[in-house]
Amino acid sequence: MLITQSTRFSELQSRLHGQVLTDADEGWDAARQTFNLTHDQRPAAVVRVASADDVVETVRYAAQRGLRIAPQSTGHNAGPIQGLEDSLLLRTDSLQEVRIDVAARHARVGSGVRWAAVADPASEAGLAPLSGSSRDVGITGYSLGGGIGWLARKHGLQSNALTAVELVTADGELRRIDHDNEIDLFWAVRGGGGNFGVVTALEFDLFPTPEIYAGALFFPYERASEVLHAWHELVSGGLPDEITTVGRVYQLPPIPELPEFLRGKSFTVVQAAYLGNERDGADLMRPLAELGPDINTFGMVEPAALGYLAMDPDQPVPSASSGRIVAGATSATIDALLGAAGPGSGSGLASVELRSLGGALARRSPGAGAHAMLPGDYAMFAVGGVMGPHSREQVLGQAEGVSDALAPWDAGSRFLNFEEQSVDARLFYDADTFRLLRALRSEWDPSELFLANHEIKDS
Ligand SMILES: Cc1cc2nc3c(=O)[nH]c(=O)nc-3n(C[C@H](O)[C@H](O)[C@H](O)COP(=O)(O)OP(=O)(O)OC[C@H]3O[C@@H](n4cnc5c(N)ncnc54)[C@H](O)[C@@H]3O)c2cc1C
Repeated sequence: MLITQSTRFSELQSRLHGQVLTDADEGWDAARQTFNLTHDQRPAAVVRVASADDVVETVRYAAQRGLRIAPQSTGHNAGPIQGLEDSLLLRTDSLQEVRIDVAARHARVGSGVRWAAVADPASEAGLAPLSGSSRDVGITGYSLGGGIGWLARKHGLQSNALTAVELVTADGELRRIDHDNEIDLFWAVRGGGGNFGVVTALEFDLFPTPEIYAGALFFPYERASEVLHAWHELVSGGLPDEITTVGRVYQLPPIPELPEFLRGKSFTVVQAAYLGNERDGADLMRPLAELGPDINTFGMVEPAALGYLAMDPDQPVPSASSGRIVAGATSATIDALLGAAGPGSGSGLASVELRSLGGALARRSPGAGAHAMLPGDYAMFAVGGVMGPHSREQVLGQAEGVSDALAPWDAGSRFLNFEEQSVDARLFYDADTFRLLRALRSEWDPSELFLANHEIKDS
């Protein structure tokens, strides 16, 4: 009998409630699609699990046959994965449980859930998760990689807000790990990415947000130097942990998904979220508001509004990006950034941002996981759309050009979530943390069954 890809996996299919798809099946392209449309994932098969039991079956099946498993929830960070062709791409996007306990300020989600599904109901109760700039990003990958958002300077990384993780480890067992059970493994998954098992559910704290003053100041792109220097001066002068700000330049594409006032336009923008009242928030932002922006959207907002502040795309787009953590920033850092991405630079990047770090991100909280903190002044992220005449290499070159320009202020570490290329995972951790993560990977996944986007392994 001719063994086609479909018949090759018919035994696995017979053991699952979910679906096994190969390139012979309808739905193959949709099942392997990534958020960044420049990536073309071609695994041996895609397994769309319907339950934690399906994950157990798939892990046991793969382990018996020497196949690897690449866990994925939404495909927002698929770019760095290497060697998918001999692997099962295990998609958890059907695991959509969402339970919010308002009194306990706590959430439980299936590992396919995106931030919007928690942020909206939590917001109605005056609570917020430690979600990031995009409502569309999957909670699982974001949380396993650290996770920084608008409340990060006050409450730290999302990985350290996790209270329990349910995952299927390489021995095919479904485990619930937390601060009291398998504490080493629980430490490792909180920052160590998808290297230790397939997560089926996550539980984490929500934070009371009775008052949020947030918004954006839009200035002409040409005022980038004046505005970003003033912003850097304000940030470096010391702001309370309750406020997180972003300084950025946008050159937005003329796409219908954007509101008309933004479509095809360029701006210099400062965005901020302040956990406090309008009077104090306006006082903090005054030095920038007094520069006379064209548009000022600041006001009191519901927590869920933070998911729209950065205007991140919520539909798959072709893009290329580069990130760097910046430390010891001076006004020369702003000049270097604008030399690569500001007016007159020739940059066509859609967004180049500096996110303010510090506050809780600079402190090691007791009981933290492998990603205990994210020291540095700013997280830089530069991204461009791979559209029209621009090739991926051109756009990537421009984004890396911004990173290169900031090399003199490199913090000495990278941030896993902001890396969309394959990089040595040692760059995400200090040497002791990497050594411990490496040892725990050997203990829990000795045959390297799991293929994470950023692998903890000997290079
Ligand atoms: C538009 C946009 C905005 C963003 N904003 C922010 C931000 O504000 N702050 C921030 O910190 N990051 C941000 N990110 C980065 C984001 O956190 C990463 O892309 C993250 O990996 C996405 O997780 P995911 O589960 O959606 O992606 P996926 O591509 O599905 O997963 C990424 C990796 O996570 C692991 N993983 C996923 N699911 C599982 C599972 N079930 N079991 C085990 N491992 C799993 C795997 O290693 C996988 O390769 C943003 C990304 C985008 C595209």
